[in-house]
Amino acid sequence: MSHSSNPFQIAQRQLDEAAKVLKLDPAVHELLRWPMREFHVRIPVRMDDGSVKVFEGFRVQYNDARGPTKGGIRFHPEETFDTVRALAAWMTWKTAVVDLPLGGGKGGVVCNPKEMSQGELERLSRGWIRALGHYIGPDIDVPAPDVYTNPQIMAWMMDEYEKMTGRSAPGVITGKPLPLGGSAGRGDATARGGIYTVREAAKVLGIDLKGATAAIQGYGNAGQFAHKLAAELLGLKVVAVSDSKGGIYKADGLPFQEVLKHKQETGSVVGFPGAQPISNQELLELDVVVLFPAALENQITEENADKIKAKIVAELANGPTTPEADLILHQRGVYVIPDFLCNAGGVTVSYFEQVQNAYNYYWDEDTVHERLDRKMTTAFHAVHEAAKKYGVHNRLGAYVVAVSRVAEAMRLRGWV
Ligand code: NAD
Repeated sequence: MSHSSNPFQIAQRQLDEAAKVLKLDPAVHELLRWPMREFHVRIPVRMDDGSVKVFEGFRVQYNDARGPTKGGIRFHPEETFDTVRALAAWMTWKTAVVDLPLGGGKGGVVCNPKEMSQGELERLSRGWIRALGHYIGPDIDVPAPDVYTNPQIMAWMMDEYEKMTGRSAPGVITGKPLPLGGSAGRGDATARGGIYTVREAAKVLGIDLKGATAAIQGYGNAGQFAHKLAAELLGLKVVAVSDSKGGIYKADGLPFQEVLKHKQETGSVVGFPGAQPISNQELLELDVVVLFPAALENQITEENADKIKAKIVAELANGPTTPEADLILHQRGVYVIPDFLCNAGGVTVSYFEQVQNAYNYYWDEDTVHERLDRKMTTAFHAVHEAAKKYGVHNRLGAYVVAVSRVAEAMRLRGWV
């Protein structure tokens, strides 16, 4: 059977599987298959040459049964409404699996930020808020950075929102710069959360991680911090890392600080002295204990799933494993920590940022780490237990946990 690659149809199919396992009430299922509310806006922006360009923008508030919707804003030339819908659905499951009192949302603008000046980006960011500011807010819907948006963009957006509402409202958006109400510990939160789940997976599998080997695909925010923290927190020996230009391998381990310096100086990990070159494909198939896909989607497919030798696959990237590969890995006993659990540390610390903004009182980094650890550890065991109980792979286990929580909230509200 040929399946559509439309991301929203994929998201709906994943939900359908979980609904089957849970024997979900048809009305609950139907309500969860669609966004609760969505906005489609046009944003006029004065460009540097004096002309006005009209940009297309989106915001999807997928489901708010558990609390205000939460999710990033992407600036991307190939953005589509269905991509935003799918990502908003996945945010709904991600906030639910880590048990945050939030729903899921996502936003975007069709634009190419690489071709825009800072001034144009600022006017576009403020324009997005002018178009949608009346429909978001700390108690309604809380955006954050995502692909090609960053803390500076969040700062402009917060400022524009405060101008519209006439009051201080840092909790309208997260991922802000620290001096404007950002949270300590946001920088490495995604990788750190993933590392906590690997630690728990090793416990349930009876694997000793001290000195065990690891490989990391991708060397951006998620991959770099995974390298640092895998060594620091778990004692793992990272033998291979890669980026879009290729990979490097060193049997007795790659030192984090030196590799990072090399990447910063040359733009790539490739050519790191004393390491062997290795392709991205070879990296995925290395005989290591832990494999961290931290780059792109669709990296582990039915083509290579039977060659993956890692015992634990910790998905820091979104969607690195295809549904067909999931089944193969499960049959072969490879333990996958699914993306929306493994990389939920970022949204968890975003939620902490909102809580601190509401208090107007800020936590130190140790407090953030400790609370993140508790959230991730609890979520990991909920998913592990659900997968065992229903005899399904971990991704479906994570869906079962998340969907049943959202469904329960809808039932308690009397929606269904
Ligand atoms: P990033 O842009 O900082 O880094 C991406 C890295 O992947 C870069 O090093 C790039 O060179 C590398 N890469 C690109 N193509 C590659 C290829 N073909 N093979 C190997 N490496 C390749 O992005 P990021 O923020 O680190 O995000 C990585 C993944 O993690 C994405 O899937 C993202 O959605 C997911 N994620 C990130 C966060 C976060 O807080 N940063 C949160 C949740 C999920």
